[in-house]
Amino acid sequence: MSDPKDFTHFGLDPLLLAAIAEMGYATPTPIQAKAIPVVLKGKDVMGAAQTGTGKTAGFGLPMLQRLLPHANTSMSPARHPVRGLILTPTRELAEQVADNLKKYASKTALRVTCVYGGVDMDPQTEALRKGCEVVIATPGRLLDHIQQKNTSLSQVQIVVLDEADRMLDMGFLPDISRILNLLPKERQSLMFSATFSEEIKKLAANFLRDPQLIEVARRNATAELITQEVIKVHESEKTDALLTLLRTRGPDDGRLTQVLVFVNAKIECRRLARQLQKAGVNADAIHGDKTQDERMKALEGFKRGEIEVLVATDVAARGLDIVELPVVINYDVPFNAEDYVHRIGRTGRAGATGLAIMLMTGADERGVHAIERLTKQKFDIRPLGIERRERRGRGERVGRREGERAPGRAYAPTAPVDDFFTRPYEPSEGEGAEETTGDSPATRERKPVKVAALLGGTKR
Ligand code: AMP
Repeated sequence: MSDPKDFTHFGLDPLLLAAIAEMGYATPTPIQAKAIPVVLKGKDVMGAAQTGTGKTAGFGLPMLQRLLPHANTSMSPARHPVRGLILTPTRELAEQVADNLKKYASKTALRVTCVYGGVDMDPQTEALRKGCEVVIATPGRLLDHIQQKNTSLSQVQIVVLDEADRMLDMGFLPDISRILNLLPKERQSLMFSATFSEEIKKLAANFLRDPQLIEVARRNATAELITQEVIKVHESEKTDALLTLLRTRGPDDGRLTQVLVFVNAKIECRRLARQLQKAGVNADAIHGDKTQDERMKALEGFKRGEIEVLVATDVAARGLDIVELPVVINYDVPFNAEDYVHRIGRTGRAGATGLAIMLMTGADERGVHAIERLTKQKFDIRPLGIERRERRGRGERVGRREGERAPGRAYAPTAPVDDFFTRPYEPSEGEGAEETTGDSPATRERKPVKVAALLGGTKR
């Protein structure tokens, strides 16, 4: 195998290499090291990886490489048919993927555009009609554009289903099926999913042709980088408990800033943001009912540090890339244990350490157990004020007597401590074309595994 330490050995075009060098990508992440050569070969891929692992470049760079022979500067729309299509569950993820793809393609003549619902169709229509080789889209809005004949998918060579599990959760299967039926039969198909439910296996079996399974450790699913705490409270004390955490768990036992707070429902999202505002916290809410503009404004304010606390539902937060977000609080225990992994994955990103605190009431026991089973850990559940203190390295826990007042552990984000983005990828032993390894808690037990067995048969 050639030198895996940098991007040069993949055989990518110098224009792509120059673009990613400008972005500061020096070393391929594991998913990139595994996926780029396979996608370049034209094979179908079933990728088990979530956002934050570098998967966008894992499929985006080889996609652009394969489309480069078609790059041209002609003004004629006919010379710029859609050749690469990326479907995402949410507007935010669509924008994030598009931002990256635009940067990767910035030195080439390939055009990249993004279409999603909740905003005016006209600018999207104009971009599509001018022609563009790569389209990143949410399913519903893409179908609207197709219906209005703003674009055609008849020349798509590569299609990517990004966060496929989430698209199914959100009920997009009929839309996805309609879109896939509009694509040429001869094409390359890639699918990325953090989980492997029966539905996902069925979709993969119908949609992928002899796919290669590529898995990487869900680095955020493990407790290595993220300190996780569960605090037991009475239902009626939840908001007060949250306020206490916000006021005491920042640096020097002070105020926390830039906290993402997760709730399970839109109504709760609005209510909690209002209550926090009343208590003097600069809070905002993002949920599915907010317009795209409102969501982007809230997110920008949050990124700039003007909004201290962003209260979010799972759907609205999916795909948010807020670098080194120090703290995530689960105000509600998620209904779905997988969502816990996604939620806390917002912190501890890009190698920084993070803190994830979850409030739990008596009604949440089953939910918390489901998370423990999925993430293969046992939480040390404490009442508020008697929070867990651990001495790292010695595994020694400093306990506190019942009722004794604890100062609360101040939390300050640290500099990146892991080498995920700098460590050269080294394939593990026995990693072959038809077998794979996975280190995520959810996949650890089933390695190595035959692709066909995992996907339940793989004929399109
Ligand atoms: P993704 O999982 O694709 O959303 O990527 C997560 C973040 O990591 C994004 O901000 C990317 O720009 C960044 N990233 C992806 N690949 C690399 C790399 N090889 N080196 C440094 N940063 C990267």
